[in-house]
Amino acid sequence: MKTYDWMVVGGGITGAALAYELVKKGLSVILLEQQRKPQNATSYSYGGLAYWSGTTPITRQLCQEAIARHYILSQELDAETEFRQLDLLLTISTDSDPDVAAASYAHLATPPRLLSIQEACELEPLLNQKAIAGALTVKHGHIHAEKTTQGYIQAFLRAGGEMEITQVLELQTRSQKNLLAESEVRFTGVKTTTATFHSANIVICAGGLSRQLLKSAGIPIKLYFSHAEIIKTPPVELRLHTLVMPANQQRFQLEAESTQVDELWNQPGNQPVPPILDGGAVQFLDGSVVLGQITRTLTDPDGKVNSEESEKWLRQSVGKILPALGKLPGTWHHCLVAFSSDRLPLIGAIPGFAGVHVFSGFSNPLVIIPPLARRFANFVTGQEDEIIAQMSPGRYIMSG
Ligand SMILES: Cc1cc2nc3c(=O)[nH]c(=O)nc-3n(C[C@H](O)[C@H](O)[C@H](O)COP(=O)(O)OP(=O)(O)OC[C@H]3O[C@@H](n4cnc5c(N)ncnc54)[C@H](O)[C@@H]3O)c2cc1C
Repeated sequence: MKTYDWMVVGGGITGAALAYELVKKGLSVILLEQQRKPQNATSYSYGGLAYWSGTTPITRQLCQEAIARHYILSQELDAETEFRQLDLLLTISTDSDPDVAAASYAHLATPPRLLSIQEACELEPLLNQKAIAGALTVKHGHIHAEKTTQGYIQAFLRAGGEMEITQVLELQTRSQKNLLAESEVRFTGVKTTTATFHSANIVICAGGLSRQLLKSAGIPIKLYFSHAEIIKTPPVELRLHTLVMPANQQRFQLEAESTQVDELWNQPGNQPVPPILDGGAVQFLDGSVVLGQITRTLTDPDGKVNSEESEKWLRQSVGKILPALGKLPGTWHHCLVAFSSDRLPLIGAIPGFAGVHVFSGFSNPLVIIPPLARRFANFVTGQEDEIIAQMSPGRYIMSG
């Protein structure tokens, strides 16, 4: 019976990056992912790297580290991440005041620049000038999140890591006495659809399913998930020059409001706040486009969404801002996205539950996952890290 040093549950970008950094520390690591070709948040992501958006000394420092890391990641992983810089265009709706919109970004490390309607349309010729009062722009990073994840996984395997395609059904425990002779629950492995795996440490990177998995093991945690809906097109002829998103992203407000009553998330069938749509789009290097995004707070991860209505809403809203995109051929997709209630991720050991850790709940994660995965691996092998300590789930853990 093999016991690994670390077991990583979930092969999206968080799990892939973490598994890679852990194996590089010389640890024995197994990565468990339930889908051979995951249909997860990573695969439907826009891929934007908001390295300009730090608000606190910690997030500014992380963003600086992050962009340096993204510059060399492709070379380090020996895989194409498609990292590049592109112009982000934050559209200001006709019922908003452009100066107020610009002021709401003034506290960020690099505040976006205000553009007139004409300047915005010069930067992004596909924009409908009648649908905006102006726009903001800033240089944004961009990667192909799915290819980056694959790059991490291949580099992880080359470095001696193991991976299984299997669904984790439950976390397994053993009662033991700790040094103070108090009883504590220690997690020692997982039961999956194919086998039982043993590990000294388990880290949950299961994205929007992390809360459910932890809850089924009796671990309460303030980690939430939204249902995201998008349309993905095949490669198309037209060229989108920028990554387009609304200046006023309703998603962040929705996340804050929907988490005010944690109890609502313990029963399926609730919808703490109504759905929102942040109309935007991005084109990847192969010419495919993602049109997004609806965010819904159904507390049931399997909650049903009417795909026809959702697609119609997406096409109408994106089509209003970018008329040429609304009618593109494409397929509607749905996935879950994890988030926390304060926009900082939950990283580290879960107090009171030995052997189980979490690395999830990132709001805008792609930029900061690479440095945080590396910091996590350094931290668990003995290096102090003030940033990791501040992201501990201990800041939230609830009694009972
Ligand atoms: C439309 C859209 C646009 C986005 N745009 C951006 C952006 O521009 N910039 C940005 O920074 N972020 C963006 N995000 C968010 C970002 O993409 C996600 O937060 C991130 O990819 C999440 O990665 P993850 O590894 O936590 O989760 P996921 O990618 O969802 O991966 C979790 C994995 O865990 C697996 N899993 C779950 N349960 C189990 C189990 N029991 N056993 C085994 N495996 C399991 C799942 O199959 C899944 O593959 C966007 C998200 C969406 C949906």
